[in-house]
Amino acid sequence: MLQIEEAVKQLQKQVTQKEHTEQMPLLEAAGRILAEDAVAEKDQPPFPRSPLDGYALRGEETAGASREHPAIFRVTGKVCAGEWFPGRVQKGEAVRIMTGAPVPEGADTVIRQEDTDYGEETVQVFRASAAFENYCPQGEDYRTGTVLLKKGRRLDGAATAILAGMGRDSVRVYGLPRVAVISTGDEVVPPGHPLERGKIYDSNRYYLCARMQEKGLRPERSMHCRDNAAELAGQIREMCEEGMELIVTTGGVSVGEKDILHETLELLGARRLFWRIDVKPGAPVMAAVCQNTLLICLSGNPYGAAVNFELLVRPVLEVLTGSRTWRLEKRQAVLQNDFRKKKGTRRFLRGREENGKVWVAAGNQASGALSSLAESNCLVEITKEMAGATKGETVWVYLL
Ligand code: AMP
Ligand code: MG
Repeated sequence: MLQIEEAVKQLQKQVTQKEHTEQMPLLEAAGRILAEDAVAEKDQPPFPRSPLDGYALRGEETAGASREHPAIFRVTGKVCAGEWFPGRVQKGEAVRIMTGAPVPEGADTVIRQEDTDYGEETVQVFRASAAFENYCPQGEDYRTGTVLLKKGRRLDGAATAILAGMGRDSVRVYGLPRVAVISTGDEVVPPGHPLERGKIYDSNRYYLCARMQEKGLRPERSMHCRDNAAELAGQIREMCEEGMELIVTTGGVSVGEKDILHETLELLGARRLFWRIDVKPGAPVMAAVCQNTLLICLSGNPYGAAVNFELLVRPVLEVLTGSRTWRLEKRQAVLQNDFRKKKGTRRFLRGREENGKVWVAAGNQASGALSSLAESNCLVEITKEMAGATKGETVWVYLL
């Protein structure tokens, strides 16, 4: 049976990174991928500034100062953050200064106000300070010409702050891939509507959209379709013609009477890449190419759909966005409890990993159950050869 890794390779081959870029307001660009290097155009800070409230003066003039033998200075002015002191600090002089204010010319350190008598015309300094001791030099953070952020970097809080600190209010980022999500099933009802007998609410579409939005990718289309192959084929065809790059569907991929994806792909004349892979849950996942659009048709079982998304759809989004943030971190951990399973299937259990230890969710591991997923932070891989999970064994976990 097709292995996950092979399926991922096949899927990734069908897509390419978006080349199109756009200029965006910085405040709307969080989560997006930088399409340019960010190079400092100015020193940061742009002037030497005071790290504290006190008095700016020449450090050498405070040598030997103490409470018993204070050094005395004439206060020639005051400078607060946002102001500029026009003069120069001469011998025997000090300027009252506040945090963030530019250190006036001539001064080379700032005496903490707590080490003075807070004098207004003259000030007594009780403590010596060497030149540049309390002094943030111009360019302390970075110098003009420094490459601060590289093309391909995801705009997180730190990257956004750096751009803003450089005075940028807009930024060039890669365009987002065009993605659609479709849930299927006659029994599936959108949340917010009354639930008739025999129906269930659509959680899959919400899982998939939320997982994408967590990384800043808003699916362009998100809809539900009944178990009607012609109708579904019509919807998908329209999306392919619109230029959608990836369509993710859920449900209808098994072998039941209402498993309409087989017929849908035929109606579309789509080229099937694979159906069924070696994974539990989510084995009946299917993939195809229709026009230039990649279709990945996930299991309908909520946990099966989740595992399919995490292991198969993410690597495709990684290529489409050019961002490694889609990749799940994989690490080894030691099992803290047991779970029995039959040999011969590669299984992914819900678990909770902390500091190299992992607990397999004691509650429901059924593929329809979502409640145990909410308490989990990883997928625990139980290989084909393992007859389940045994306390003390080392396993691979994929952090969600
Ligand atoms: P299917 O693969 O369509 O046979 O669905 C498998 C199971 O998952 C059935 O119990 C469905 O009712 C359920 N299911 C399918 N789609 C969804 C969905 N969007 N949200 C929640 N459960 C679903
Ligand atoms: Mg169904």
